[in-house]
Amino acid sequence: MQASMATEPDRGVRRVDGAVRIRGPVRWCREGVQRMKDLLWDEFQDAVQQGLVRHRSILDVVSKFQEAGIRISRALVKSVTSCGCIRINAQKNQFPPSGNLSLQELRTYMNDHLEGELCASCREVIEEEFGRLLFYTAALANLLDLNVYDILIKENKKLAALGLYHLS
Ligand SMILES: [Zn+2]
Repeated sequence: MQASMATEPDRGVRRVDGAVRIRGPVRWCREGVQRMKDLLWDEFQDAVQQGLVRHRSILDVVSKFQEAGIRISRALVKSVTSCGCIRINAQKNQFPPSGNLSLQELRTYMNDHLEGELCASCREVIEEEFGRLLFYTAALANLLDLNVYDILIKENKKLAALGLYHLS
């Protein structure tokens, strides 16, 4: 990407990290040096824009987006009930009777209820389903003229500012 792409910043949409949208749904260029991480996401979002042919309606995209989340849940359940490489052992979390725990201390008493590790086969299936979710996340963002990398930056800033209190 060339620095000259950013010569008309006033004609583009300025993103939260200072990048400027030049043309197309997700073509951005920051003044100065571009980083590979945001380029990678932007290229992906752009590729989804080009590759989405059959299901372009917001109705198709939003329902496919929801379906992708459900398919991840289904793959996870099959890892437990069909493969058995992971197990769910859930129970009520137990806290010391004294109470008055800091959030940091509270974390040590919270259990994820997950035992075992994904085998290679289940990992591959779940990764594939995550890929589908990312595809429809990008497709939905494109339709709503959002940039997912922007959202990631904002969320990361929020997380850094709020720390343990973020969505606790
Ligand atoms: Zn497995």
